[in-house]
Amino acid sequence: MILRMLARAARLAARIALAWVAIGSTLTASNPAAALAPDLPRENAVPGGVKILRLDVTGSALPYVDAEGHRALVLQDSPTWVAVFGIPLAAPLGLHQVVVHAANGRQEIEYSVGNKQYASQSLKVAPRQVDLSAADLARFKAERIRIDQALSHWTELAPESLRMSQPVPGPRSSSFGSRRIFNGQSRNPHSGMDIAAPSGTPVLTPIAGTVVDTGEYFFDGNTVFVDHGRGLISMYCHLSAIDVKPGQRIAAGSRIGAVGMTGRATGPHLHWGLVLNRAWVDPELFLP
Ligand SMILES: [Zn+2]
Repeated sequence: MILRMLARAARLAARIALAWVAIGSTLTASNPAAALAPDLPRENAVPGGVKILRLDVTGSALPYVDAEGHRALVLQDSPTWVAVFGIPLAAPLGLHQVVVHAANGRQEIEYSVGNKQYASQSLKVAPRQVDLSAADLARFKAERIRIDQALSHWTELAPESLRMSQPVPGPRSSSFGSRRIFNGQSRNPHSGMDIAAPSGTPVLTPIAGTVVDTGEYFFDGNTVFVDHGRGLISMYCHLSAIDVKPGQRIAAGSRIGAVGMTGRATGPHLHWGLVLNRAWVDPELFLP
């Protein structure tokens, strides 16, 4: 008898607890201030831009989202998840889709990629930096493999924020995505943001991360790659000094090097690149 009463009391307690959970989640859903939205970049669904999709996925297991051919960054925005992914500069316009693999099954979500007209930019550099010698071409090809490896790094930990400040103060060009013509010859579009600053100006990482690789490259000069988690990688080029080592964990605001003009550069500046799911995206979307 006592056992039966205890069991009834336990069932009643469980029902009350469930009711409280229901009230709790209703309150959270109807009160936007209660749901702490992650710090997201601005959305611009164009080649070189960022698309943000709210997923019909709940629970704490990290969903696997395939966007533009690679694993996308996802963030928990309780009770659901949000995918934040890059659209490659070479992406065709029109309908695209992501594939979501989660505990509740597989979903396909369609989204549309709009047009953005990027300007064209003519630059004059040393002839050997446009018409590569056989030795320089071989060097460049080997470096490309190493750079691709750094950019495809994946760590499970989420970035601490997707809102950033400039890694160096100074005027920034809006030349991301512009078609580049070096000494009259067409080359790949510009895949980052250039910030003009005197040689020696400290370069600070905007958010925490792990240094994936450092090196001295033919075009990019002295370069540092930082992995911020879930496919968000940043790249800092043309440095006059590198102050970090691969494997090093760095906090937001850490000095990683100094501005310079190593590699193919027409003057001292920082080239700042940001990659999401291996696509170069416009860093401007992450700034205030
Ligand atoms: Zn640049």
